[in-house]
This record gives sequence, C-alpha cells and structure tokens, in this order.
Amino acid sequence: MSSVKTPAAPTAVPMLDVTRENKRLQGQIDAAMAEVTKSGAFVHGPACAKFEEAMAKYCGTEHAVGCASGSDALLLSLLALGVGPGDEVIVPSFTFFATASAVWRIGAKPVFADIRPDTFNLDPADVMYKLTTATKAIIPVHLFGQCAQMDEIGQIVTAARGIPIIEDACQAIGAEYQGRRAGSMGTTGAFSFYPTKNLGGFGDGGLITTGDGDLAGKLRVLRDHGQQPRYYHHFVGLNSRLDTIQAAVLNVKLPKLADWAASRARHAERYETEFAQRGLSEVVVAPPVADGCHHVWNQYTVRIMEGRRDALQKYLADRKIGSAIYYPVPLHLQKCFAALGCEQGSLPVTEQACGEVLSLPVYPEMTAAEQEVVVDAIADFCHGRGRAAA
Ligand SMILES: *Cc1c(COP(=O)(O)O)cnc(C)c1O
Repeated sequence: MSSVKTPAAPTAVPMLDVTRENKRLQGQIDAAMAEVTKSGAFVHGPACAKFEEAMAKYCGTEHAVGCASGSDALLLSLLALGVGPGDEVIVPSFTFFATASAVWRIGAKPVFADIRPDTFNLDPADVMYKLTTATKAIIPVHLFGQCAQMDEIGQIVTAARGIPIIEDACQAIGAEYQGRRAGSMGTTGAFSFYPTKNLGGFGDGGLITTGDGDLAGKLRVLRDHGQQPRYYHHFVGLNSRLDTIQAAVLNVKLPKLADWAASRARHAERYETEFAQRGLSEVVVAPPVADGCHHVWNQYTVRIMEGRRDALQKYLADRKIGSAIYYPVPLHLQKCFAALGCEQGSLPVTEQACGEVLSLPVYPEMTAAEQEVVVDAIADFCHGRGRAAA
C-alpha cells in the first residue's frame, strides 16, 4: 500500500437541494398531508381554498385560482381572455418553453421580442416594434426572479387599446416592481409550484392571480372542464386542478417564503462582492438589480465573457459543483417553432445571452463554506490556476 495520502475530496456543491428545506419542515408537512389523507378530500379540499386566499393576499390581488401547473396557468389565462387562432401574442424568446407553447397550443401565434441585455427581461422598445393589429396579449416574463419593466410595457398597452398583459411570474413569486408584487400588475399572473421554484411543492402545481372578478369566475370554470354546475359545459375547458395534498404542503411553506428570499439575496450579494474583490468582474458579469425592483433570485445568473462559459461549466462539473444553463437555445430557434420562420440573428441580444449565461447555486440553505467552494473554483478558473481536478 502506498503511504501517500490522497487529497481530501473536493466538496460537492449541488445546483439545488430541495431536501434541505423539506427536512426542516418535515413534521409540519407530514401532519398537513396526513390530514388530507384522512379526510379523503383529495380534489378541491379545504386546503385549496385556504391556499388560494393566502396567495391572493401575498401577491396583493383580489383573486387567486389554483390549477395543475404554471404551464396551465398560462394556457388558462389565454383561454379566459379569448385568445385563439389568428391572434398574435408577444412573448420573450429567452424564457422557459411554456411561455410560448401555451400560445401555440391554443392556435395563436407567438411573436418573439428581444430582451434587455442587463436584466434579461423583455425590451419594451422591441415589444412596441412587434405590436400589430393582430396582437391580442403580451406575456412579460419576470425571469430569474426579477420583474420586467412593467411601467413601460403598461404604457405600450394603454396606447394599444388596453391589450391584456399576462405576467409569467413562475420564477418570481414575491418579487416587486415599484412596490407592486409580481402577479398584481397584469390582467392575470401565472405561478408555478414546480419543486425548483422559490415556492416548491411535492410535484406539479400552479395558480393564476387576477384583480378581475369575472375573469376569476371564468378561470374557475375553465380549469374544471368548463362545467358549471357539473355536467353543464359552458366552455371546452381543461382538467387542471391543484391537488389538495399540494395545497397542504404549500400552506406550510408559504409563510417561510420571505425568509428564503432573504437568504437567496444574501448569497447573491456575497457572490457580487467576491467577484469584485477577487478581480473576476471582467470575466464574470454579476446580474444587476434594476431600479425599483425587489429581486427574489430564483436563479443567480451571470454572464461569462471571452467565450469561456462552456469551459467554466465543465471546470465546475469536474469539481462536482453544480451550475446550469438557462437557456441554451432561444425559443425562436427551436425546431418545433420552425414554421414561424424566425431566423438566426433576428433577436441578437437573446442569442448572445444564450451563449454567455450560467446559473450558479443560490438555494436558501447553501452554506457559506459551500459558496466559498464555488467562488474559489471560479477564481481558479479565471486566473488560470488549479489544473484539472483529481
Ligand atoms: C417553470 C416555468 C413555467 C412552467 O411552470 P410548470 O409548473 O413547470 O408548468 C412557465 N414559465 C416560466 C418562466 C417558468 O420558469
């Protein structure tokens, strides 16, 4: 046997570890789930109404309607607003697939607008440019946890005969713009409780916020096959429910959300400070928080300059440090949307972002030691120190 000691294995840092937050709430969650199990009210049980009420209050809206996913929240919003074949809906291309697929799915045409290079959110000037007489809705996405420029987008809409705005707030629960919460500024707001979101359930879940009582009523009917009462169908709706068991879990978690967002913000601040202090700012561009915005950091997404993004991601992966690329291919260049005829180069800011972004671990329970491991590795990479990991 060799007496040479093997060096300590590098600390692995996951991109996300949902078990940490769930473990801390295990007792409460188990009790809430057991109550549902015992009651047998698996669909639209009391926990659902309680959660809808709590979410309306949290988001600062009159109404909240639970549904099966964030994707369905977008789809139901479009259906309730009567968007359909022949209509255009302006969406960003730099977003999760569901923002555009919801539009496509109902037979309308997604019209892609470019983003701001700093915030990665819709560029109001390009929205204005893409507006036509066929535009029936705009879907600004509050990407990575920061709100889009809702004032400017709102002004465009006012000038354009009050076109409805559907906020895609799936990554931005609790985020604020000029003191208003995500989901309270548009005609509707779409939320997701997929486990990787800031408020994550034990599977899929979604919700729609709105200040419009008639629209809320229509959404409630639409999510239940368009029937009211049962077996009397007014619309061809969906089967899209928020399970009682999910609502029970989410009721336990919602009160913790502000604390978790504060932890995420602390991590974000520390990343920015460290990148600056270690002289990494030329390679690693930290995400700015726009004026009047309260960012909830669903993702901490930097730009890696000098064409070194993919090399850095591999360097981190070799050291068992998680990172992710949201998103590698813009939606306007996806194969499934080829029929739209969008060309490479048509959305230059979006396309550049896809080649430069890298999201780093920012989950609330990440320890200072873990964050140090991430920053050390990035510094070693940038300064050309640290050869291949053992
Ligand atoms: C997650 C997400 C969705 C879809 O939510 P699901 O609950 O996964 O269907 C839609 N838009 C954005 C921006 C998202 O991040």
